[in-house]
Amino acid sequence: MKIARVQLEPCVLRKDDPQWRFARGASPATEGAIVTLIAENGAEGYGYGSATPHMGANRETLLAALHTFVPLVTGQGSFDISRIMQALDRALAGHHQAKAAIDCALHDLNAKLLGIPLYQLFGGKLHDAFPVLRILAIKTPDEMAERAAALVTAGFSHLKIKLEGDVARDVSRVAAIRQRVGDGVHLTVDANQAYSAKDAITALNRMAEYAIDVAEQPVGADDFAGLRLVTQSVPMKVEADESAASVDAVFRLVTERIVDSVSLKIPKLGGLRQTLAAANICAAGQVAFRMGAAVGSRLLAAHALHVAAALPGAPYACELGEFARLLDDPFTGVEIEDGCLRVPDLPGCGAIPRRDQAKAAVAS
Ligand SMILES: [Mg+2]
Repeated sequence: MKIARVQLEPCVLRKDDPQWRFARGASPATEGAIVTLIAENGAEGYGYGSATPHMGANRETLLAALHTFVPLVTGQGSFDISRIMQALDRALAGHHQAKAAIDCALHDLNAKLLGIPLYQLFGGKLHDAFPVLRILAIKTPDEMAERAAALVTAGFSHLKIKLEGDVARDVSRVAAIRQRVGDGVHLTVDANQAYSAKDAITALNRMAEYAIDVAEQPVGADDFAGLRLVTQSVPMKVEADESAASVDAVFRLVTERIVDSVSLKIPKLGGLRQTLAAANICAAGQVAFRMGAAVGSRLLAAHALHVAAALPGAPYACELGEFARLLDDPFTGVEIEDGCLRVPDLPGCGAIPRRDQAKAAVAS
């Protein structure tokens, strides 16, 4: 089916907590873009472009890349995904976030044209639902423990503690949260590159007594030697996130055994098939993986759920529920229930524009 038109819309989602902060900064809103592909028969496919500076794109570079891609997609056959993605790669190196948005929209459109849920395009569904891990922003230890308790009361059993790179304060955050939530809750930590390798080793060994499942990206994205040193020097699993910025990087992380685990994210890897490729590399190398934070519209979480549904193994809790702390989402169709997300079974990715839902309500 030919793609008749491509629409781009900026997508700015306010955070319910304007003070939300992690080691690389703070902003009162999450920015991105919605790509809509309109087929000749009027069917629409949607993709979310993520503007996340520490993952390589801001709002301006994301939209500029998408505008470059529009003429390369318009008029093409929607099932010619490899041809289209090759054209995008030839036009611009990098820009994974913008390419992921196009790739996601193509897959959503094709699944809708076929009348099947997206996971069917990846071999079918192995998992129906995933527990959701929720993320705690950097605040005082008491404030973070308070928020952790509220999330546990709301039904979540997996939490991620954002760290700032100060050994003593970060250890006190972890201690306060563990003391508050008890032993039954799974805890992970994420320093977003804030530590030197030596400080990370000190901090994580001290945190180990509080039972941490995973320590994510303790050191700089490019510091593969430091990352390996940390992996070899602490008892918990060490995971690459910012270091795992492409399929090539994942290949190196796995083959050189630099980490124990990889955080898979559709925007940084450049699309759904790239994410599947990265997962397969991890599996072949006996390195764990999980679906990392999809901060943005429910549309992005929906696409990630379909990838996760088709992957063998029993992935750790997914980080696909952060939409719950964002306001103004133009999409619905994915909601957290009892701390879990179900994989949508509607045709396509299952994310529905709120304007369509409103129209359906008026019509009925
Ligand atoms: Mg991370």
